[in-house]
Amino acid sequence: MKKLPVFCPSCESNLLVSELSCSNCDTVISGKFDLPQILQLSAEDQEFVLQFVLNSGSLKKMAIQMNISYPTMRNKLDEIIASLHPNSNS
Ligand SMILES: [Zn+2]
Repeated sequence: MKKLPVFCPSCESNLLVSELSCSNCDTVISGKFDLPQILQLSAEDQEFVLQFVLNSGSLKKMAIQMNISYPTMRNKLDEIIASLHPNSNS
């Protein structure tokens, strides 16, 4: 299956879901649906969030596992938080 694109290759706006299909009976539903916020993150950021959950929210464990320094992990998480709250300064 192809990777889900989240940004328009033409103007870089967020993409909407306009068609959903049943893998069993091929029923197709069309409309305009927002992608869940978590899916609006880049594939790399989604992987980070997934690993964060799988590691019970321990950046320390993730840092050891991925051999990346704790401050780098912390910065990455802060970037993701900022991208999920584009209008806040925290
Ligand atoms: Zn079906």
